Amino acid sequence: MLFACISGPTLADVERQMEETRGYADAFEFRLDRWNTIDPIELAALLEIAELPVLFTIRSKKQGGAFAESDSDLYALLNQAAAIGPDYLDIEFGTPITIISQLLLDYPDVKIIYSYHDFHSMPKSLDDLLASMMTVPADGYKIAVPAANASDALTMLAFVQRHAKQGVALSGLCMGEYGLPTRVLGPVVGSFADFAVGHESEKTAPGQLTLHELQHIYHYKDLNPQTKVYALLGGIVVQSPSHLTHNQVFTQLSYNGVYIKIAVHDLELEGFMQLVRELPFAGFSVTVPLKEEILLDLDAVSEEVEKIGASNTLVKKDEAFTGYNTDGKGALDALEEVIPVQGKQMVVLGAGGASRAVVFEAVKRGAAVTILNRTLARAEQLATEFQAKAGLLEDLQDIGPYDILVNTTSVGMLPEIDAMPIACQDLIAGAVVMDIITKPRETKLLKEALKKQCKVIYGQEMFARQAAQQFALWSDGQLDKKRVYQIIKDVLEASL
Ligand code: NAP
Repeated sequence: MLFACISGPTLADVERQMEETRGYADAFEFRLDRWNTIDPIELAALLEIAELPVLFTIRSKKQGGAFAESDSDLYALLNQAAAIGPDYLDIEFGTPITIISQLLLDYPDVKIIYSYHDFHSMPKSLDDLLASMMTVPADGYKIAVPAANASDALTMLAFVQRHAKQGVALSGLCMGEYGLPTRVLGPVVGSFADFAVGHESEKTAPGQLTLHELQHIYHYKDLNPQTKVYALLGGIVVQSPSHLTHNQVFTQLSYNGVYIKIAVHDLELEGFMQLVRELPFAGFSVTVPLKEEILLDLDAVSEEVEKIGASNTLVKKDEAFTGYNTDGKGALDALEEVIPVQGKQMVVLGAGGASRAVVFEAVKRGAAVTILNRTLARAEQLATEFQAKAGLLEDLQDIGPYDILVNTTSVGMLPEIDAMPIACQDLIAGAVVMDIITKPRETKLLKEALKKQCKVIYGQEMFARQAAQQFALWSDGQLDKKRVYQIIKDVLEASL
């Protein structure tokens, strides 16, 4: 059940918020503690026009809410609110049992959500906390605590899933930047209730999503326990457009999947991958800096991954995770739309993770590759592994003519858009120049290449192609690569 948080503070705001969120939510949560006035007659009138179930919540400042009066005033107000006859009443953990018992006795038709909020830390044992909460009879239990990292959020999801399977009406939400999985995946793990707001400015808890985001990005109303969950794992994931592109693919191709982005610290990766196995994750995209380290936590790897030494795609089949790499194929397919690489002189700038995949695939397809990098040793290492030549970035002027230049360094990425990995004069007029950076779309390198009448290829071409390969692997060939590619391209173009 998805609650729209109606936080006022004026009556006009309340009415507007109800109208704006009605189409998105299953129920309203009236955050009465945030309203300027609580008039029983007005409240009764709002219940009349609500047409959806209504939850009344009054939380004191001590409990993380906005009600500033004494505890006895709070309990009196809870009593008055219950008398108006909402469908649900929220009672915070720690409310004296005598008050709760009286409310249960006096208002047997009002369903109780017994909730626990801690804005500072996650409890040591969620199970012990729930056991103590369940000594109070309630129609639903809600736990909202901060996640210090991605593993905390998955721990919460696994906890909710375990209890939901046993028939407990439980909602477990993690606040903060790591909490997103718990905000989106409620219907997948069987959570009893989720909460979101109409507008960014109305957020009542850190990390809360808007109803618009939940529905239009994550197609929340289509999610169910059969939904396959996919995610991007990486150190920094905010800049990736993949939550926009990938969820559109699932929606437009009617595939029961959802895609979220998860920032994972490399130190927590092992434990995180164990938690993943308890949850309905079916596959991952992997980005820097985890593409190599992730191999330690997999059950198997493809032949390419064995050679490249890095994986950007994980697929779960029969409870086992296998690592694949679609970066090289994505880049080379984009290049070969423009120029066949067989027998061509190709310069690859950079010797990081993406470069490994690009060089491997380019050599496999018959290109004569020279790797130039800021750190010579890394270029030399790669060149030895893949039968290529190596040099420093500034050696470009000395290595002779080339047909193709591919930038795989991160130089020129947002926010440093005026940077270029090589000098302008080293660009050869008429060569094919590809930059695998996706943001900005047109890097300084590509701008300069266009001035020299080079044929340019944008990083988005690689992004869409490597992603289309991921979808093919995830869906066992069910999702058509060409259609996936086109959807991703369209979303990227629209987001420019
Ligand atoms: P990575 O493993 O961290 O490698 C970064 C590379 O950039 C290294 O060669 C590094 O050189 C070089 N570099 C970084 N800062 C530099 C500077 N100031 N001057 C010169 N060289 C510098 O990263 P990655 O995974 O290979 O990703 C690289 C880029 O590709 C990123 O922009 C990423 O977003 C993009 N990418 C795009 C796609 C796509 O689908 N379009 C897919 C994957 C990656 P050193 O070795 O000297 O440190």
